[in-house]
Amino acid sequence: MSFTLNPDYSDHPLAETIASLRTYLEGELAEYEQEHELHPESRFDRATLQTVWKRSHELGFYGIHLPPELGGRGLSHTDLAILKEEVSASGRVLSQSVLGDMGGPLRVGSIFRFATPAQIERYLLPVVRGERACCFSLTETDAGSNVRAMHTVATPEGEGWRISGHKVFSSAGPFADFSILIARMAGEEEAYSAFLVDLDSPGVQVVEGEVPLSGQHIESDIILDDVRVEPDQLLGEAGQGLKIGLGRVTTNRLLHCPTVLGQVRRALTLTVDFVRNRQVAAGSMAQLQSVQHTLAEMATDYYAARSMTFDALAALDRGEAIMPEAFMCKLFVAQKAFSIVDSAMQLHGKAGMVHGSEIEGIWRRLRMFRMLTGSDEIQKNGIAKALLS
Ligand SMILES: Cc1cc2nc3c(=O)[nH]c(=O)nc-3n(C[C@H](O)[C@H](O)[C@H](O)COP(=O)(O)OP(=O)(O)OC[C@H]3O[C@@H](n4cnc5c(N)ncnc54)[C@H](O)[C@@H]3O)c2cc1C
Repeated sequence: MSFTLNPDYSDHPLAETIASLRTYLEGELAEYEQEHELHPESRFDRATLQTVWKRSHELGFYGIHLPPELGGRGLSHTDLAILKEEVSASGRVLSQSVLGDMGGPLRVGSIFRFATPAQIERYLLPVVRGERACCFSLTETDAGSNVRAMHTVATPEGEGWRISGHKVFSSAGPFADFSILIARMAGEEEAYSAFLVDLDSPGVQVVEGEVPLSGQHIESDIILDDVRVEPDQLLGEAGQGLKIGLGRVTTNRLLHCPTVLGQVRRALTLTVDFVRNRQVAAGSMAQLQSVQHTLAEMATDYYAARSMTFDALAALDRGEAIMPEAFMCKLFVAQKAFSIVDSAMQLHGKAGMVHGSEIEGIWRRLRMFRMLTGSDEIQKNGIAKALLS
């Protein structure tokens, strides 16, 4: 093996898939984005995204990780991570729509295994086909890391429930047809359930919430006012909602790492190109030893973060419990990714500090990763708990 920013997968069992994925990202998808004048902070409309979901499905990428009975190819976590890193390293604005992160099968995550056959038919298979989209709603204004503080409540009514509450920061909310939503069970101590809530139900409002640092418009608030849900919209067993919701977050926190590593690879590639071409008083920036050392440190951190991620993914594929490792990867990858892209920005000078430059966009998105799917501190709590228990 030899370190490179453009891995050669020609001997990999997925070689053909990776080659056609790269062709799609660099060709058809790049042209589509140009034609629609898309940039990361565009307000995407559903039709623009859905065209990509459906095309990616047609090409066999959308939901590729799912088992064959759900329309996928049953990829291992490691193989899925390779594809995730590739789409992310492409720098495409719509990269998150190719494998199904943006409201698609990857957003559903491991929740498939809790769904009944009827729920799979009604909710999940249309998502796999790119016909419907979903979001995941756990966080509230006063309930982030401490999810148990949530106020959204499900009150029994006949066979079903009525849900009221206010969820914030549901990614893919603006395009979603339904939410996998966690609510507290009225009248019960510390009991939470997961529901499949149709976002066109009477009493539901999907509104634009606060715009995060990324400047993207892909999150929503979901306000529920006495929304009726039927028993067949309960996901898993009543009272198991946090187990289902947080279980999804645990797998997702590891699976977000290759996406982040792809963005780091993109930042490194852009930086190597930049320093080769940028002339300073001493000549090409690439000839300066201080620049070379900075690049060397960035690449070494990327290699370390990537190695530990793929090590944990391999353990997950062997069926091992990887809770502390997932916390460690999320912590290390998030911190190193941000420090690498901060160096990339430094090396770009003013070119990296203007709105719209690719580097500053990556810098802002990677800063957020130190909070999303659990903050650095929450990862440290998890690691320490495993060590001390
Ligand atoms: C762009 C974006 C997208 C998001 N997408 C989704 C989504 O799709 N669905 C969803 O449900 N949520 C989503 N979230 C919410 C995200 O998961 C929360 O922001 C995150 O869990 C942290 O919660 P908080 O922001 O309320 O911070 P808080 O929990 O209030 O934390 C504030 C600070 O206190 C620290 N802290 C809190 N508790 C502890 C502790 N026990 N020990 C040590 N330190 C602690 C934190 O680390 C942090 O530094 C998203 C957020 C953003 C910004």
